[in-house]
Amino acid sequence: MSSRLSGIGMTSERTRTRMVERLRQQGIGDEAVLSVMQSVPRHIFVDEALASRAYEDSALPIGHGQTISQPYVVARMAELLRQGANLSRGGGRVLEVGTGCGYQAAVLARMFSEVYSVERIGELQSRARKAARELRLLNLRFKHADGMQGLAEAAPFDGITVAAAGMRVPPALLEQLAVGGRLVMPVGSNDQVLRVIDRTADGFHEQTLDAVRFVPLLAGIE
Ligand code: SAH
Repeated sequence: MSSRLSGIGMTSERTRTRMVERLRQQGIGDEAVLSVMQSVPRHIFVDEALASRAYEDSALPIGHGQTISQPYVVARMAELLRQGANLSRGGGRVLEVGTGCGYQAAVLARMFSEVYSVERIGELQSRARKAARELRLLNLRFKHADGMQGLAEAAPFDGITVAAAGMRVPPALLEQLAVGGRLVMPVGSNDQVLRVIDRTADGFHEQTLDAVRFVPLLAGIE
């Protein structure tokens, strides 16, 4: 594994710079997000056969019918989270539902103090754990579980991000959102939109943003 970090070396550094330039052109303006995306090697999260395509702006297969989200979507969700009341000050505790290959979890771990990532497919998560270990992300914890239940043992969260689309926001996730916390999640089946929910002392405030395309949020574990 360590050879994968050093192997592509300079090439991945340069292709990452191009990826970040593209993100800027696509409208990502948060410098903290751009600098973290510059620093996290994306190729170690995909199969070696696909490593050369890791920095393209596309979703790639990671096995089990799942995909690694396209860089723009990862950046956009991170940027939206960072605009939440509690997270705009830096620090913060974040829950990610849908670890997949672990790329977004790694990006979040370089941005926030504590990150918990939940995945329903055990095998995907073991691979994500390995990559996270390689990057020495000590503030990132994984749990093999159904993220529709949230993660009560670590709640409340200042930020919750869901990487799979559901027909509605699971109630457990709203319960586990701190006051001042923000949730970002794709909602819908064929026509999906990003939903942003902020919790304040007087309740939940909802906004509907960009049209998106995510794999479905499923119940139970495998
Ligand atoms: N965050 C990933 C994207 C993963 S794709 C990235 O960095 O690219 C979405 C993931 O959500 C899939 O791995 C899928 O298995 C997972 N998923 C779907 N429903 C889930 C649920 N209820 N709980 C946890 N994970 C779920």
